[in-house]
Amino acid sequence: MNDCLFCKIIAGKLPSDRVYEDEQVVVFKDIHPKAPVHLLVVPRVHFASLNELAPEHDALMAHMLHLLPQLARQQGLDNGFRTIINTGPGGGQEVPHLHIHILGGGRLPGF
Ligand code: AMP
Ligand code: ZN
Repeated sequence: MNDCLFCKIIAGKLPSDRVYEDEQVVVFKDIHPKAPVHLLVVPRVHFASLNELAPEHDALMAHMLHLLPQLARQQGLDNGFRTIINTGPGGGQEVPHLHIHILGGGRLPGF
């Protein structure tokens, strides 16, 4: 996706503060953190949101879920963390490349 912000970050065409990467995902710090720790777990493959999730993404999604507690521990979030996946404009999604937010390190507001 030529005009996708996160595809450009993954390709290294735009800067990011990466904390982890492997063959399937890139993890970097959110540019406008909503908590002391705010990471974005972003798959290298482009699909817009959970609305575009297909069976071919099953292994990737499982991989990302398993990574969440590992990344939280790496960031020192021993007391717990929050994960968010916004889907579509109605879900508050601003960047149409699927990603999982990890937040923690302070008192988070309730819902
Ligand atoms: P969402 O609203 O779920 O699509 O989340 C998009 C997130 O991307 C927001 O929390 C933004 O602060 C974050 N963001 C936007 N541009 C950048 C960027 N260049 N580097 C890192 N995070 C970004
Ligand atoms: Zn993309």
